[in-house]
Amino acid sequence: MYWRILQVESEKVSNWRSQAACRGVNPEVFYPEEFTNGDLQEAAFVYCRKCNVTTECFVSALEEEDLRRGIPGLGGSIVGIRGGKSAKTRWLVHQGRLTVEQALNLPIPVYNIGMKTK
Ligand code: SF4
Repeated sequence: MYWRILQVESEKVSNWRSQAACRGVNPEVFYPEEFTNGDLQEAAFVYCRKCNVTTECFVSALEEEDLRRGIPGLGGSIVGIRGGKSAKTRWLVHQGRLTVEQALNLPIPVYNIGMKTK
């Protein structure tokens, strides 16, 4: 898979997690209850927009989700914001409706806190 190639590339960046803009941030910020709630997503996207390892993070999420699908009991749950992308975007990649490259080229959304989105 294309993201496996990217994964190998991403491993060349030693310890990319140490470069994450969200280091030390409560992980719950990245798991909004409703992935359609822009206000909740914005709390995570604000970190992703200033992060230098969004590609590595996104590829890592795809890889983890791919592995989980093969583990009984864990199922194929795709949740949370990773690499500046929503769970829905990653679901589209897993479904083959969006390529990894297309997903990576999507801009990180900007929501105005307080505005309701669908
Ligand atoms: S892209 Fe977002 S979720 Fe991923 S490491 Fe960076 S700030 Fe954290």
